[in-house]
Amino acid sequence: MIHLEVAVAAPVTETLTYSFPAADSSQLKPGMRLLVPLGRRQVTGYLLAIRPADEAPFQIKPVTDVLDSKPLFPADMIPFFRWIASYYRYPLGEVIKIALPGGLTQQSERHISLVEAGKEVLVGFHGANGADSPAWLAELTARGTLSPARVRLIWRSRKWRKLLETWHNEGYVTITEAVSATRTKAKTEICVGLVQKAPPLADTRLKASEKKAMALLLELLVNRFPPVVPVKELNHAYSGAGRAIKSLGEKCLVFFQEQQIFRDPFGEEPPFFPEPPHLSTEQEKVLAELLPAIGRKSFTTFLLHGVTGSGKTEIYLQAARRTLAENRSVLVLVPEIALASQLEAHFFSRFGKTLALLHSGLSQGERFDQWHQIMEGQAKIVIGARSAIFAPLTDPGLIIVDEEHDSAYKQEDTLRYQARDLAVLRGKLQQCPVLLGSATPSLTTFHHASTGKYQLLTLPKRIENRPMPEVSIVDLRLTRKEAGGHPFFSQVLLESIKDNLEQGDQSIIFLNRRGYANLMICDDCGNPVKCLHCDISLTLHKSEKILSCHYCGYQARSPIICPSCRSARVKEIGFGTERVEEALSELFPQARIARLDRDTSTNRKKFLKILKSVHQKETDILVGTQMITKGHHFPHVTLVGVIWADAGLGMPDFKAGERTFQLISQVTGRAGRGDKPGLVIIQTHQPDHYSITNAEKHDYRGFYEKELKLRQALQYPPFSRLIILRFSGDNEELVRSAATLTARQARQLAETFRLTLLGPAAAPLARIRDKYRWQLLVKGTDSNNLHALCDSLAAQPVPPVRATKVTMVVDVDPESML
Ligand code: ADP
Ligand code: ZN
Ligand code: ZN
Repeated sequence: MIHLEVAVAAPVTETLTYSFPAADSSQLKPGMRLLVPLGRRQVTGYLLAIRPADEAPFQIKPVTDVLDSKPLFPADMIPFFRWIASYYRYPLGEVIKIALPGGLTQQSERHISLVEAGKEVLVGFHGANGADSPAWLAELTARGTLSPARVRLIWRSRKWRKLLETWHNEGYVTITEAVSATRTKAKTEICVGLVQKAPPLADTRLKASEKKAMALLLELLVNRFPPVVPVKELNHAYSGAGRAIKSLGEKCLVFFQEQQIFRDPFGEEPPFFPEPPHLSTEQEKVLAELLPAIGRKSFTTFLLHGVTGSGKTEIYLQAARRTLAENRSVLVLVPEIALASQLEAHFFSRFGKTLALLHSGLSQGERFDQWHQIMEGQAKIVIGARSAIFAPLTDPGLIIVDEEHDSAYKQEDTLRYQARDLAVLRGKLQQCPVLLGSATPSLTTFHHASTGKYQLLTLPKRIENRPMPEVSIVDLRLTRKEAGGHPFFSQVLLESIKDNLEQGDQSIIFLNRRGYANLMICDDCGNPVKCLHCDISLTLHKSEKILSCHYCGYQARSPIICPSCRSARVKEIGFGTERVEEALSELFPQARIARLDRDTSTNRKKFLKILKSVHQKETDILVGTQMITKGHHFPHVTLVGVIWADAGLGMPDFKAGERTFQLISQVTGRAGRGDKPGLVIIQTHQPDHYSITNAEKHDYRGFYEKELKLRQALQYPPFSRLIILRFSGDNEELVRSAATLTARQARQLAETFRLTLLGPAAAPLARIRDKYRWQLLVKGTDSNNLHALCDSLAAQPVPPVRATKVTMVVDVDPESML
């Protein structure tokens, strides 16, 4: 026998050892899944290491089954997973389970069929002692089977499960379990290309239809990589093309090939971006530092700090090309697939089919296929959101994190990891350079770059010396008093929008709040209308006629009567993008207005459609939330209006200033990216706040230095590390007591470990999804000490936690204090 180290997909902190016959072990490789016994259950486990059997002080159980014939991830990712499990305090097997694509977990489904002999008995079944007969029985007797979905529902009820098992034993029904496999193959289509570069268009032996098809093909081939056109597309343009192309094929003038479909959801190829003829001097300088590091195949972290529109994408592309030349692969992380739309088009234009995209729009089967292509090295460049940090590249030669400051890199449930931090770690473990890019780097990243931990690369100017947009600040405290003023728009902003419309230029109006009104107040009793399950006001979504909770998704119909006093006079207070859009269409009825927020882009297709309408100048004014601030390059946008810049400054969060500066700078950066200069109008109640004044001056360093001093004074990151202990449960009193008792325990340890405790206190969002929430913040300079404290606390959970009445979650390097 040999021994296997296995991480089970269950809340077990340690890895476990199982035995396996040595004679059959030649096929075993780390990264495969196994079925192993755990207590009385059988669970999935991931094979981490194979060892000769040694003397064990306890009995080693054998592996039940080997589930894979090939590993699902390369063995050199195992140290990466181990580090994540220990740093983020999460069971290793569950880390791996989260890392792998969803479609992988084999699920067995139950099928239930009626046996002929059982038919008579069951048709007359009325339940024991006059009890009701089950509602699903009619379906079973009529159709002879029950669908797996139905069985899943029934199976939750102990009563029905027992009944079905009895029938199975009596021979009335059969219950079979089968593993359901969901695999879709990559889609391909037939494409056509030219055999010779210069086809004989004037050839008199060609029929008119053939000539026409050939001319069309030539036209469609322009700027195409690889140089082939889908036959479908030709047919679409000219219905006779199919037949003509076929006969051209017989004459050996064109060839056919099957190509994997790489398309956006419109069924169109992404736009083609040619390589720029020259790099800017700054780009040259940056690449002169970056490219040799790629050649050295060693770990260095670079921060590419480039102002908006400075051509960071081109740096990514050149660096990627260099990495491919070294025969290594490239991993590109983007904050949300939102942004990827444009970045992916750039990469597709340059690298074509070697690209794999991991995005939320993929079906499980497609995701699974992409995963395998990456594993097998067919996909050389992988682009994806946060979770793509787990993509199974065997030999990564470069990891790029675009917009590295974006908080979307932090996963806020289950395994609370920060993908940008993991990118740096993965680079270190796999010996490859890491390139973090941003116009507004996170404070911690920039701090590392200024202290020499990271290497700083800068693109200080926009491409082609385009000027940064002119920014003007409007003090809302003054405009409020203007007679006859509009509640959302200052006179200056309105006039600029009007001018822009007359010029035929595009405008962006930014407000980081969706919905129509984010507060509904009863005019009679003065109470706000809150979510039934959270301590949060409901937001009105007028066009859908609903009030919804942005935290738990609870919805109520609008109009609503006041839950406190039953009055029907509930007023809409506050405003969101929907209301701003409505106001704009009243003010500018002739303007074409689009809105981009989570309500209008519920899926990738809708999202891309809105972006496309802006690109094609079918939209005059785009209203949106932070979704519009991210990375988009709209050359015709010359005006950006920020409705309420200080909206986020009041948040009880030490990152509020940083986030506000980043948001304002990023949205500002959308203006004037084309030939015409841009204008930005920022409306705010706090015109003197450093987050706003520095964004106004495009002064990242000014902001950085000010914020750094504040962080130092309060000993917040990057001068310390934080862990938040979050307590939640159904019973407010127990949650409070768990937090208080844990804090008491922690206080005794804090001195030994030189840590500071803040709290315990009710969380700013005190109740979400019917759970009360308390938290305790632990601050310290040494990460090991923070972990030592957590270890001690976890070893002796306080009574409400031990009794599982209250859950305690550890959030390491929290991104949000809410
Ligand atoms: P950033 O990501 O830094 O905000 P982008 O990468 O989107 O900026 O670049 C802005 C624009 O400049 C894009 O349209 C890009 O194609 C173009 N661009 C980049 N590099 C060059 C270059 N060397 N010459 C001409 N245009 C360039
Ligand atoms: Zn009321
Ligand atoms: Zn809610």
